[in-house]
Amino acid sequence: MNEGRCSHWNGTAGRYCHQTDHVRPYLQGPRCPVHTPAALAGLPEPDSTPLGAVVIDLAAERRRRRS
Ligand SMILES: [Zn+2]
Repeated sequence: MNEGRCSHWNGTAGRYCHQTDHVRPYLQGPRCPVHTPAALAGLPEPDSTPLGAVVIDLAAERRRRRS
């Protein structure tokens, strides 16, 4: 599926990134891997199923506390 072009505004270059490789949809719009919200914040990319991972971690934590 073609997600379009990266919509990140490159202020120093005065133009949009417009990268088309590996672009994925984000709340801010389509972004290439270099310009995802996490990448721009200097954070690792979140898991593709973060909510499920949190639920699993909480269940494991409860079991640890009981034992
Ligand atoms: Zn980009």
